[in-house]
Amino acid sequence: MGGLGSGRWPGYMSLTIPLKETTEDYFPLDIRAVKRHGLIAPGTEEIPGVALIEWVSSGFGAREGTFLRPWFLCPRDGCGRRVAILYGRTDTESHPEWACRRCLDLCYPVEMESHAERAGRRMHKARARLGSGAEKPKRMRHETFVRLGMKYLEARKEYVEALREQHLRTLEQMEQERIKYDL
Ligand SMILES: [Zn+2]
Repeated sequence: MGGLGSGRWPGYMSLTIPLKETTEDYFPLDIRAVKRHGLIAPGTEEIPGVALIEWVSSGFGAREGTFLRPWFLCPRDGCGRRVAILYGRTDTESHPEWACRRCLDLCYPVEMESHAERAGRRMHKARARLGSGAEKPKRMRHETFVRLGMKYLEARKEYVEALREQHLRTLEQMEQERIKYDL
């Protein structure tokens, strides 16, 4: 039982997967909290060293211009997205560079959904070839079994990361809508 020579692929179904950088590696600065603490008021155009602020009519249940909602404009070069939350790194001594989630996602492919699909397909394909996964299929060479196992793990890791990323995006979108409609 166990060991690479025995034709088993020990424990791969329960392997814990180290994830890439997530929002947990950053600390969020929520503009609503900033406002709640009275650090900005309508007309404040900037939090120096952080970002510019834009005040936008909420446009829902309020007459034009009667209720203004603040947004950060992402300070990263070439971004400028209107966001409610900016992130700064937690592990830096120096002043954090603030950025929106999209900017911090640059290491991920843009088409996260198709990425997840592709990784999912590769994962299922490798998984199917592994047979039960608990034991090497009889006529398969040991090296092939190990190689397929590695391939499966790699695809699974990518798949989980892509899914996680998708979920974070969805949550962010929901949050933006909640803010937009003042819910
Ligand atoms: Zn950005």
